[in-house]
Amino acid sequence: MNPARNPAANPTVDYLRISLIDRCNFQCQYCMPEGAELEYLRKQDVLTDEELLTLLREVFIPCGFTRFRLTGGEPLLRPQVVNLVGQIAALPETRDLAMTTNGFLLANLAQDLYDAGLRRINISLDSLEPETFDRVIGNRGRTRWQQVWSGIQAAHRVGFDPLKLNVVVIPGVNDHEILDLAALSIDRSWHVRFIEFMPIGNGDLFGDKGWIDSETLRQQIRQKWGLMESRVRGNGPADVFQIPGAKGTLGFISQMSECFCDRCNRMRLSADGWLRPCLLNETGQIDLKTELRSGTPTGELRDRVQTLLNLKPLINYKQRESGTSGVYTRTMSQIGG
Ligand code: SAM
Ligand code: SF4
Repeated sequence: MNPARNPAANPTVDYLRISLIDRCNFQCQYCMPEGAELEYLRKQDVLTDEELLTLLREVFIPCGFTRFRLTGGEPLLRPQVVNLVGQIAALPETRDLAMTTNGFLLANLAQDLYDAGLRRINISLDSLEPETFDRVIGNRGRTRWQQVWSGIQAAHRVGFDPLKLNVVVIPGVNDHEILDLAALSIDRSWHVRFIEFMPIGNGDLFGDKGWIDSETLRQQIRQKWGLMESRVRGNGPADVFQIPGAKGTLGFISQMSECFCDRCNRMRLSADGWLRPCLLNETGQIDLKTELRSGTPTGELRDRVQTLLNLKPLINYKQRESGTSGVYTRTMSQIGG
């Protein structure tokens, strides 16, 4: 049956991933590959705080969006980010506000972000080995691992809960660390999420060894400690498991081995105001910034976003049919991951 016609199969789309900036202080090789022609947005092309808040209040919230994740590029590079977090958290309709960050600037900002109303944070940490970490993030200077680790510790101290660590698993690079990374979930209530590496705009990265499927990772973990399905269920794409007796969980995001388009409950807003209905697909995308700046009434924008929402089940269905192939005119850092 066509899921577009089966309301039971269509989740409510109430979750917006908002890219605050396309720039980043890292150059992760799977996200902004070296040599890629990266053209950063001009400052004047990025949605201002006021424009973003207007879109949230007058377009997205009336269309039913109540859960927001701030991402990038690196969201902590956005000027006055704490103030913006506070304003989004203070919107009465905001049910959930989260951030995905590389953690490099987090040590000094964790408390302020928490005080501003942020409660959930995902920090990317692909390796526990400083050298491997630097290789992945494209760093040639002094290692950055320690500062990211300090950011994670600060987030833990401040009380972010859940605190999630995102690991993109890259064959031949960090796949020998799966057990060490999984072990981080045992003594603390940290949630380690293994993400299948996606070939988005990164060609033959690290020698084109492909990707490792989540079940292979689960087998390794199962052999060492056992593994059970967790009672904690996220509302995102991760399948959540737990090492018996562990305080935290292990999530597996398997977009390569297992299409979850029919569960997709989100849209993406880029830093320059393009609303994209799907990570892999630009069908129907709307240039909200240009419309807003040229005086299109927000009521009209609301109608257009609502029309796109109505189309979303069909877009999900078509994407499911075409697998993980997609339209990659932008890198992950530009789309917002
Ligand atoms: N800079 C922040 C960070 O790294 O957490 C937020 C933006 S980043 C684009 C969001 C997420 O996308 C990160 O967890 C990153 O690991 C993931 N990501 C980027 N490129 C990816 C790829 N090719 N495959 C799988 N995940 C990817
Ligand atoms: Fe920057 Fe995040 Fe992309 Fe790495 S994954 S280059 S930290 S935006």
